[in-house]
Amino acid sequence: MNGADAQSPVIVVGAGLAGLTCALDLVRAGLPVRVLEAADEVGGRVRTDRRDGFLLDRGFQVFNTSYPQVKRRIELARLRLSPFTPGVLIHTAEGGRLRFTDPTRRPSDALALLTGKQDRGPGPGPGPGPGPGQGQGPGPLALAALGPLCALDLLAPPRLLKRLPELTTREELARWRVPDRVVDGFLRPFLAGVFLEDDLDTSSRMFHLTWRSMLRGTLTLPADGMGAVPRQLAEDLPPGCVERASPVAALSAAGVTFADGSAADARAVVVATDAAAARSLVPGLPAVATRTVTTYHHAAARSPLREPTLLLDARRRILNTCVLTEVAPTYSADGRALISTSVLGTDAPGREAALREVLAELYATGTRDWERVGTTTVGGALPAMVPPWPLSRTGRTASGVYVCGDHRATGSVQGAMASGTRTARELLADLRRP
Ligand SMILES: Cc1cc2nc3c(=O)[nH]c(=O)nc-3n(C[C@H](O)[C@H](O)[C@H](O)COP(=O)(O)OP(=O)(O)OC[C@H]3O[C@@H](n4cnc5c(N)ncnc54)[C@H](O)[C@@H]3O)c2cc1C
Repeated sequence: MNGADAQSPVIVVGAGLAGLTCALDLVRAGLPVRVLEAADEVGGRVRTDRRDGFLLDRGFQVFNTSYPQVKRRIELARLRLSPFTPGVLIHTAEGGRLRFTDPTRRPSDALALLTGKQDRGPGPGPGPGPGPGQGQGPGPLALAALGPLCALDLLAPPRLLKRLPELTTREELARWRVPDRVVDGFLRPFLAGVFLEDDLDTSSRMFHLTWRSMLRGTLTLPADGMGAVPRQLAEDLPPGCVERASPVAALSAAGVTFADGSAADARAVVVATDAAAARSLVPGLPAVATRTVTTYHHAAARSPLREPTLLLDARRRILNTCVLTEVAPTYSADGRALISTSVLGTDAPGREAALREVLAELYATGTRDWERVGTTTVGGALPAMVPPWPLSRTGRTASGVYVCGDHRATGSVQGAMASGTRTARELLADLRRP
């Protein structure tokens, strides 16, 4: 940058997963690096608050162990991970419960996958067998249609999946002749919670990559909450490298200007913020539409579902709900159950009360006594990855500033870290150029 010499640090704006990953690679290459973070803690969208003895992730998030960036960079043992049971439970439109699982993980449940088998009745204890009026599974033939698609996603290398024709997920499932009852009864409610949209508008390439990671990986929660993931990356940076509570107001020819008017020189600047903040700092970046999600945390004296699993609603009144303490008991200090439930959009008067009614039906238990522990709305939770959605974009921009983040790749832990990795590689190559 003008006025900055080779001794000036590279400044990374934002200590989310993308910024931290980028900073780690720059530090490993021997560069002096300053990471400037507006918030009082690292992590960006992946943070965990402590409240009333509970760990509250900022929105329902899961940690997938199969992501290539995770395998490469994260020491899993340090996170003390607890797994979800493979598969999900679905509360059917008729009021029953179906279990969808991956037969390669739980051979004993293979029949359930093939038949979309009814689970034992809803409720916290050992319930009755499937009763009259409970939902019917899609049936073996319908589910068999998923077989070839699963085989492709499980076995094909990602580079091939990235080159498949790009459609919406809805169109792609139709192309694979997945029957409507499988789409509406299982895939749509499940994917709504992953892509934070329930029209299956997301790019089919993103669907294939996500499906692959689900088939190959294990969904888990760290004992100290999802915030432990970016904290681990930050711990691997040199002491003092991350400067918290340091919001950058603007970029300058020499580096950056802080919100308090002070300035810092930089040899190069990487903007690793969310899409909206990046656009305000770097004029000319394209606008990125995003998804909004609200997560409600409730505490209950007794767990309403004695299993570490996701519960979905075929009627799509919620995205998903889960008793977090069944997955990781460390999410509660006093043994009470912590239930996380997510919905699309923002909170509104009366929404939580209506949600309790839905949860009472889904868990088949009273919810009036549940304590509302927290409500988190995340605007800009994920980029809306509608086609055409390039899965990886360069970090270089016309202005000479570098930009990384999930909005330059895919809205995921993997996407954010991959974007940070790519941008560090490009920046290092540019600096080495004579
Ligand atoms: C509710 C929710 C659930 C999710 N679930 C999953 C999941 O289950 N699995 C999965 O893989 N992904 C999930 N994601 C997506 C994943 O969390 C994100 O894609 C990823 O964390 C984005 O990281 P990032 O570094 O690109 O951006 P961010 O996390 O947004 O980081 C940007 C950072 O920049 C900082 N910043 C902004 N402006 C400034 C400024 N002017 N000066 C200094 N700093 C600034 C911000 O404070 C922030 O720390 C979920 C996201 C949400 C919100």
